[in-house]
Amino acid sequence: MTVTCRRCRSAPAEVQLAYAKLSLCPNCFQEFYVNRVRRTVEEFKMFKPKDKVGVAVSGGKDSMALLHSLKTAFPITNFIALHIDLGIKDYSKHCKEKVEKLAKMLDVELEVFDLESELGFSIDDFRKTIYRRKLCSACGTIKRHLFEVLAERAKTRILATGHNLDDVVATMLNNFFNGNWSQLVRLKPVLKPLMPNQTFKIKPLIKTPEEENLLYCLYSEIPFREVNCPHAHTERLKENKDMLQYLSKGNPGFRHQMLKNFLKLIPILEKAIEKPKLTTCKICGFPSSAEVCAFCKRVEMVRKVKK
Ligand SMILES: [Zn+2]
Ligand SMILES: [Zn+2]
Repeated sequence: MTVTCRRCRSAPAEVQLAYAKLSLCPNCFQEFYVNRVRRTVEEFKMFKPKDKVGVAVSGGKDSMALLHSLKTAFPITNFIALHIDLGIKDYSKHCKEKVEKLAKMLDVELEVFDLESELGFSIDDFRKTIYRRKLCSACGTIKRHLFEVLAERAKTRILATGHNLDDVVATMLNNFFNGNWSQLVRLKPVLKPLMPNQTFKIKPLIKTPEEENLLYCLYSEIPFREVNCPHAHTERLKENKDMLQYLSKGNPGFRHQMLKNFLKLIPILEKAIEKPKLTTCKICGFPSSAEVCAFCKRVEMVRKVKK
């Protein structure tokens, strides 16, 4: 028996959203998806339609769905795609091609930081350092810093990232488990800059379940990367995400309810925790808890082994 779409009541439904008790056809699903992005941006006052907004795109389904849906929801907003070419063999070139393709398709400006040509090393070079077993952690530090650099080049103070509902709830559980309160509050939908001149980080997909990003990419014919990073052997949050999927089977609104209550907890936590004391890195001038920031330390380390 075919079910008819609950919205248009004409096309056959293909997508079942148990948490919303909705069965939708592909067209109505895309509309539903984009409307949620628009409402999330408006609810948390992430930006105004006339702002210039940087969008961090890796080439993965989440960030590609983010750029496409933002452009659809806010056609007059000036979005700039920001991409880092990490120089990872058999991977980065593929990702960059997909990002270039989408930017062209949407007529969006693209700013790329090329690690190899601009800094003289690639993420692969970290295999020769003490980070060989935690490459993803070094890569994360490098990316966080360079997206700030890219935002500055693009002359925007707003940086949108593709963190989805599952990412946020899974990371939240991890930080809760480890009692890492200062990291926990950083998961909020709009993160103010640590210092002036830095970006406001926004998460327009914070209410979007991960599996819907893939569906949105497929239905909207969005190009996205089809190969996995050779360094990502085990995803740190994979176990938490599997657990969330399992719990969502019995209670479809589980992830949404966790997020809702978490957002209520943030202001209370923020008042209770001490703000980290920050100074500026003596090499790059970025905010840092030590004399030399984590980014500059890693750059120095990888340059040493390259010599
Ligand atoms: Zn429909
Ligand atoms: Zn630094």
